[in-house]
Formats: sequence, structure tokens, C-alpha cells
Amino acid sequence: MRLKAVFFDAGNTLLCLDYAAIVNALKEEGFLVSREEVWQAECRARVRLDPFLAQVEVRESAEVFSRYMRHTWEELGIPWEEKAERALKRLWEINRRQNLWQGGVMPGASEVLAALGEKGVLMGVISNSDGRLETILNEAGLAGHFSVIADSRVVGIEKPDPRIFHWALERTGVLPEQAAYVGDFYSLDVVPARRLGLHAILLDPVGAWPPLDCVKAKDLFEVLSLLLLLR
Ligand SMILES: [Mg+2]
Repeated sequence: MRLKAVFFDAGNTLLCLDYAAIVNALKEEGFLVSREEVWQAECRARVRLDPFLAQVEVRESAEVFSRYMRHTWEELGIPWEEKAERALKRLWEINRRQNLWQGGVMPGASEVLAALGEKGVLMGVISNSDGRLETILNEAGLAGHFSVIADSRVVGIEKPDPRIFHWALERTGVLPEQAAYVGDFYSLDVVPARRLGLHAILLDPVGAWPPLDCVKAKDLFEVLSLLLLLR
């Protein structure tokens, strides 16, 4: 098979969650945790959020965010009570104002995108976002790599609806079987991509996911190795 295009999820695939903001929000309520602990907990929280994401109507919502962070608190051993709820409210406000997915570029993102570009692979982003995705990718210095950026708020379709994948594929003129998709949620990323016939890779940085019927990678460097095998 000849790999012509690779599409990426944005949050926790190309762009880091702002873990420092989470550490600070918790600190202000008296919970002292490190960035590393928050990251590990959040990686495990994704696995717990996944079944909910699979069945809920709208994914970019306060309800989903609240569940996501609540699972993260639980994984950190923080009891769900008043102070924990206050920390969550503070974070939601930050997310609404400036988007919490501005914690920097994921390790390896710049190098991996440059390497794929050198090989003539087309690239795109397909993400459930709030309309600010292109600006954030621009500020992160990544936007120039992409032929297409599909922000669910702009397109009007959220993953896992396969139409947002279609929308991006059409704009690159690449067939699904000539493309791969990389993301960090099984139900949102892997399931719809494969349903359309794309190859899919699940990012599983801490080995939190149970055995699944898909290829997993611990980071973007491993993703690149796997993608080059498809060429
Ligand atoms: Mg993601």
C-alpha cells in the first residue's frame, strides 16, 4: 500500500493539554500534585471517558469536560467534593476563555510532521474543537504542515461522525485506504477512521488502554515508525 495522507487528532495528539493550569487550579484548592502525576492520571481518565464519548450527543460541552476532569481527579485520588468541584469550575473558565489545549506541542510533533512532509505525505487535522483550532495550530508553529484543518465547530460535524473524516479526505483528494489517522480516543478516533477504511493508530502513552483490536503507539516517534511501514 502507498500511504498518501496522514490525518491527526489535535488534543493530546499534536497539542498538549495545559497540565500546568490543572496543577495550579488544584493547588489553589489545597491539592498538591505534580505535572507528571496529572499527566499519568489524565491518560488513564481518557480510557474511562471513552465509553461515554461513544454514546453522548455533543462532545465539546461543559458536561464532557466535567466528566473528563472528574475522572482525572479520581485517578489522582482526589475525592469529589466541594473543593474539587471549585477547581474544576476554575479550569472550565480557563478553557472557555483561552482553550486548555495550549500546553505546548506534543513531544516529537514538529519532527514527525517534518519527516512525513519530506516524504511527500499529505497531512491534515481532524479535531473536535471550539472554532479556535487553526489559530492554536498557527501559534504552535504547526499549521503550515497541513493541507486541511477540520475543526468540528467550523465544519459543523463532530467525531465520531464519519462525515468529518469524509470532509477532510475530499479536500485532499486521497482515498481512505491510502490514508491513516492518529488519535488518543478509541471511540472518537480509531472506530470512525477504520469504519471508513483508513488505517488507525491509537496513542497510548502510559499503557492505560486494555488490549484492543488496533495498533497502539506510545508516542509520535513510534507513530512515525509504524506509518513508514505502511509505505
Ligand atoms: Mg484527542
